[in-house]
Amino acid sequence: RKKVMVISTGAKQLDELLGGGIQTMSITEAFGEFRTGKTQIAHTLCVIAQLPTAMGGGNGKAAYIDTEGTFRHERIKAIADRFGIDSEAALENILVARAYNSEHQMDLITEIAARFAEEKGIFRLLVIDSIIALFRTDFSGRGELSERQQKLNQMLSRLMKIAEEFNVAIYLTNQVQSDPGAGMTFVADPKKPVGGHIMAHASTTRLYLRKGRGEERIAKVYDSPDVPEAEAPYAITVGGIVD
Ligand code: ATP
Ligand code: MG
Repeated sequence: RKKVMVISTGAKQLDELLGGGIQTMSITEAFGEFRTGKTQIAHTLCVIAQLPTAMGGGNGKAAYIDTEGTFRHERIKAIADRFGIDSEAALENILVARAYNSEHQMDLITEIAARFAEEKGIFRLLVIDSIIALFRTDFSGRGELSERQQKLNQMLSRLMKIAEEFNVAIYLTNQVQSDPGAGMTFVADPKKPVGGHIMAHASTTRLYLRKGRGEERIAKVYDSPDVPEAEAPYAITVGGIVD
């Protein structure tokens, strides 16, 4: 039987909130407004996943599907420096793929699963940043919502199988809904993740991220079956996520 492993986020209080970090054989979803650190957490996890388990790592490689063109080599190098590992090696241990539409995103997941099967036990993390952005572009028309949800559901079921089969942690970023505000403008409703009940059902753990005072950020566990709804502050630094 496979044993669940945890990958530290780099911030102690956030790890405690999650029961040690993000778990393998499970899907962790982070949603929140822009600049709350969804992508920076993803970069930090990609480095920590490679560390020995004694350092909160997963002793494995990471795969990263980038849908918004926000993966940055320089960020990985700086985070690797913080943990004292070789920055070039850290980068080589991350399989990065850019997705251009939702179908391509699904194809990349299939390719990555094949890699996981070829290199059994080597990968410990799969990031998709963001899970939903391309679906929102591809199915933006009126009446396309049910088709979008159906395709999203297929992808999420696929991801859960991958998480379990290969004992990897899956970290997904999600956006927040925009609701009509005053006049004709749309304002983001920070507490409403996109993807409806399909997304809610698929995520094992949902993290709602928001801005605090100044540079502070706050994470809150959102309807988890086994973690109480508590909060943890964190900050984004050159070395990644910290307390
Ligand atoms: P979006 O919804 O736009 O994708 P996000 O939640 O993914 O947003 P991130 O890109 O993860 O947000 O975080 C952006 C924040 O990270 C900014 O506040 C920025 O100041 C901070 N940040 C990025 N790089 C660094 C760095 N090298 N040092 C310190 N802070 C940084
Ligand atoms: Mg981002």
